[in-house]
Amino acid sequence: MQDARRWDDRYARGDGLPPLAGLPVAVKDNMCTTDFPTTCGSRILGRWMSPYDATVVARLREAGAIVIGKTNLDEFAMGSSTENSAFGPTRNPWDQGRVPGGSSGGSAAAVAASFVPLALGSDTGGSIRQPAGFCGIVGLKPTYGRVSRYGLVAFASSLDQIGPMAGTVADAALLLQVLAGRDPRDSTSADVPVPDYAKALNGTVRGLRIGLAREAFGEGLQPAVRTAVTQAAEVLKGQGAEVIEVAMPTIAYALPTYYLLATSEASSNLARYDGVQYGLRVPSTDLYGMYTKTRREGFGAEVKRRIMLGTYALSAGYYEGFFLKAQRVRTLVRRDFLQAFERVDLVLMPTSPTVPFRFGEKVDDPLQMYLADVYTIPVNLAGLPGISIPCGFADGLPVGLQLIGRSFEEETVLRAAHAYEQATEWHTRRPPLDGDGGGRGGTTQPRGRA
Ligand code: GLN
Repeated sequence: MQDARRWDDRYARGDGLPPLAGLPVAVKDNMCTTDFPTTCGSRILGRWMSPYDATVVARLREAGAIVIGKTNLDEFAMGSSTENSAFGPTRNPWDQGRVPGGSSGGSAAAVAASFVPLALGSDTGGSIRQPAGFCGIVGLKPTYGRVSRYGLVAFASSLDQIGPMAGTVADAALLLQVLAGRDPRDSTSADVPVPDYAKALNGTVRGLRIGLAREAFGEGLQPAVRTAVTQAAEVLKGQGAEVIEVAMPTIAYALPTYYLLATSEASSNLARYDGVQYGLRVPSTDLYGMYTKTRREGFGAEVKRRIMLGTYALSAGYYEGFFLKAQRVRTLVRRDFLQAFERVDLVLMPTSPTVPFRFGEKVDDPLQMYLADVYTIPVNLAGLPGISIPCGFADGLPVGLQLIGRSFEEETVLRAAHAYEQATEWHTRRPPLDGDGGGRGGTTQPRGRA
């Protein structure tokens, strides 16, 4: 409140204001903040306080934003429903019996419920886009290297990327502007000039070629989701885009590839939580006992499953058959996209195969849970930018449209998403929260804008 008052005073004095002056922003709790604990939704970190701010958090503060709180997530960002948090689940504002998606479920729900106009998420295999789709908001995973990962607690370092979550495409562009750019503290952040994203939002898709990824419209896709996404493609066509089909034969292999690479990287990244440096320590009579007891009590079941899978895939005798092979398939997945981008400027597919599911529906069946990210994971493997925007409702629940662009062409992704938004009113729907009186499919009061 003090920070907000300071910005109000500066505004009243007629002083110039930075781009996010006084705006409350929620930050996923796997990004380091000096003024809140950083838990990663895990018991193992306890109430660990970071001695430094993540670069994205520092940039938010420099831009005048008020970091108002940290948001819930699946433990260490491993999950698609936010049910894997050690602190309990987050509910979907559209139907509180259903999941908000994950792992950035807290950020998505906070924006959807109008708690905040802007939030940060991280996306390793879909964790910005899938919850954005499930909660009827906008979520953008930037190109790998577009945004600094310094201070983002690592899950799978070759896939992790931070990005904006917002109520509208313009707000997502505004937030990306603040986040994007080279950071000397993250050697994987790219030295590529940052364009003016707001300028890219010219309201038209005329001249753009959009490719419908054929393999993403097959088996496993809920019919009502297919209808909403196909209609969205028609809208873009009506606005002057050229829409054709493109083949992406390897995307079927993306899921198993991801679950070898992401778990391998995670098994290495999570080795540091041993009771010595961070958070929880369960005492024992000897060092080895302390390690094992700490990790046994500190990690949840999904994190343990992944550490075991990853350790196996990397171990002698299995490395070539699993990890190395998966790296090769990753190259093929990227090649599919590059080939498509010879013919089109954007690839279009659903964000998720289904609408938000009920609590408990998939927790006992990891494979079913993993399938929630079947359309988002290929984009991380290829390192490309992808956005999810609201494109309708199925059974009263939000459906997300995914648009994928060439490396560092977030401008084109944002431009098409914005143009679609101008032609539709899905982004103006608000969930029927207590006392709101909204029905299924929501009311149409516009939510808070940045
Ligand atoms: N749901 C996927 C997983 O569980 C992706 C998570 C993410 O993007 N952080 O790994």
